[in-house]
Amino acid sequence: MDFYIMTLFPEMVMGGLNTSITGRAVSKGLLSIEAVNIRDYAFNKHSSVDDYPYGGGAGMLMQAEPVYQCFKAVEEKIRSKRAKRAQENGQEPDGGKRVRVVYLSPQGRTFSQSMAEEYAKEEEVVLLCGHYEGIDERVLEEIVTDYVSIGDFVVTGGELPAMIMTDAVARLVPGVLHNDISSQSESFQENLLEYPQYSRPEVWHEKRVPDVLLSGHHANVEKWRRRQSILCTARRRPDLIEKASLTEEEAELAKKTAKENKEE
Ligand code: SAM
Repeated sequence: MDFYIMTLFPEMVMGGLNTSITGRAVSKGLLSIEAVNIRDYAFNKHSSVDDYPYGGGAGMLMQAEPVYQCFKAVEEKIRSKRAKRAQENGQEPDGGKRVRVVYLSPQGRTFSQSMAEEYAKEEEVVLLCGHYEGIDERVLEEIVTDYVSIGDFVVTGGELPAMIMTDAVARLVPGVLHNDISSQSESFQENLLEYPQYSRPEVWHEKRVPDVLLSGHHANVEKWRRRQSILCTARRRPDLIEKASLTEEEAELAKKTAKENKEE
């Protein structure tokens, strides 16, 4: 999968994403992550890309034209990569398919694991990072297909949100995690949080690892984990447990736990 991140701070984005699991996946050729500097498309001799907003108000706004030109360059790259891939696979070039362009914005749809799963099916995604007070509305209208937020708060730029989104999507691309099963048994699968986990030593600060995990009895371990997932979700995310698919007995357990938690 190819990620193109349009930003004024490419070094910030690449510094983070070229590290650890995503960095290794890039080296192995499972992903490509390219931060494209919007400033390279500035049209004045000072390379400035921002200006005062019409109508007044605090702060500066990123201008439309550098963002647009930067996008056009990225779009061209994507189209020629698609054409090359199609030729190698003996297929018709898929020139018409719209490029998915995500504007990271506090005004977007709140990012979630199911959205990460949906984006992981794409061949490529373009992430647009705003800065200052944001971006001139006119270019957003022309190029953006999706608005995505990382939560109901405002950060200074779209770079950290884009890194979060890239990381969450990238780890779902087959082969990126050492063991693909690990992304299938995590929090938010089936609207449940993950069960607690333990590693060596068996006793730490006088706390023992639950016996069942040392028993080697796989079915009992699975049963215990399912129960713990339900307890954990009912305590920490009662909103989520309402959407989970539970047996009658499990639903009763969840209800009781959520009630006890409320009373505490
Ligand atoms: N003036 C904008 C508003 O009130 O909606 C906020 C601009 S914010 C200071 C600058 C940039 O940070 C935005 O253009 C966006 O790219 C990014 N950003 C801020 N908060 C975000 C969030 N919760 N999710 C995604 N991106 C965010």
